[in-house]
Amino acid sequence: MLSKEFKTKSPSQRLDEIAAACHLTADEKALFAQYGSLDEPTANRMIENVLSTYALPLGIATNFKINGRERLIPMMLEEPSVVAGASFAAKLAQPGGFTATSTEPIMIGQIQMVGIQDVQKAQAAIAAQKYALTEKANAKDPMLVSRGGGVTDIQTRVLETGRGVMLIVHLHVNCQDAMGANAVNTMCEAISSDLEVLTGGSARLRILTNLAIHRTATATAIWAKEALAESTKNTLTGDQVVDAMLDAYEFAKNDPFRACTNNKGIMNGIDAVVIATGNDWRAMEAGAHAFAVKDGKYTSLTTYSKTKEGHLKGEITLPVAVGLVGGATRTHPLAKVCLKIMDLKSARDLGEVLAAVGLAQNFAAMRALSTEGISRGHMKLHAKNIAVLAGAQGDEIDRIAAQMAAEKNVNAARAKELLEKKA
Ligand code: NAD
Repeated sequence: MLSKEFKTKSPSQRLDEIAAACHLTADEKALFAQYGSLDEPTANRMIENVLSTYALPLGIATNFKINGRERLIPMMLEEPSVVAGASFAAKLAQPGGFTATSTEPIMIGQIQMVGIQDVQKAQAAIAAQKYALTEKANAKDPMLVSRGGGVTDIQTRVLETGRGVMLIVHLHVNCQDAMGANAVNTMCEAISSDLEVLTGGSARLRILTNLAIHRTATATAIWAKEALAESTKNTLTGDQVVDAMLDAYEFAKNDPFRACTNNKGIMNGIDAVVIATGNDWRAMEAGAHAFAVKDGKYTSLTTYSKTKEGHLKGEITLPVAVGLVGGATRTHPLAKVCLKIMDLKSARDLGEVLAAVGLAQNFAAMRALSTEGISRGHMKLHAKNIAVLAGAQGDEIDRIAAQMAAEKNVNAARAKELLEKKA
């Protein structure tokens, strides 16, 4: 889809290629070219007390094949090596690429009921009125219902707390192509007075949960041991890399200290795509980390195993509360174009891409950690940041960064020395 030289081209040459490959209009292309696409009126509509906007680099992860389709993946973030790591992992996963699936886009809204005398009777009363409650909630969002969404179930949970027994009502809502927070919150508010009448209690909090256990995506990939050996320039055999990575996985699976950083690496990739598409990355973060502890112990969101041929198989499942409509997905002009670049058919499709990116990112970090160590890959771009930190400007940045990388001595003191030497 893209030229072999894509990586080494200038940003404007890369933009030419992407614009051609993704059929961007002249206006869409111009948004990228102007480095700061959010105008004052749009920014001022999005949040309060606006002063300005704050730009981050937007890159494209390449080599992704998901369910047989090639995908270009926009990523927006400040951290070096993430775009390169994802693209490298995707390249090594060829020719099969990633297989991804997803559940229906069901979010859960929670309504907290307190002061109920007979909780079991209250549960029965709610169950008996499920249909009427569903109708009332759905009436709040005819647009969502017309797209095939709306309430799919109403469940109750009894919560024993220090302030007595509470009844937590769960409203399951199919959000179709919306992330759905506003839609679900509005529905929860709409039925809370009916719940008070049905239960004799008082409704307190009415808000969705980000622990979207019914809206998940799963991605799997197999990395051939031959490709793994080659990735170390055959300094290690494929079997050695697979074993080292399985050891790394067991570490993350069994130790929350490691699992936390393992999952941070997964979210490096996922958040970057979530931000590029105007979605809510705090919602994704909250959902992912809560999901990682769903069985009572915080663990890795990915799992790894050895296939019978000795290759490495990776898998990830996580909640994917993201949309193609709503929130900033349509108000931020660049988000719209990023969604177009990905050529997505539905929010589920985006969730599947996110799962594949998360798995790729995790694979890239685990492979590096299990073989040459994480610093090597980070060094080139990291060295540039350190050079800037030491006060380098313009051409000095590349010169000092290259020298520090060659010396394998990247730190601010050395950068300052090199800077002063030149002066
Ligand atoms: P929204 O309210 O802006 O838009 C969603 C609406 O779009 C739907 O309710 C529906 O009426 C309409 N729609 C049109 N076409 C649709 C389609 N094909 N599929 C589904 N709906 C369609 O956005 P939202 O998704 O309800 O809420 C997302 C926003 O809520 C995000 O900006 C998020 O940051 C924010 N938020 C998040 C939380 C949280 O995560 N805890 C809480 C509150 C608000």
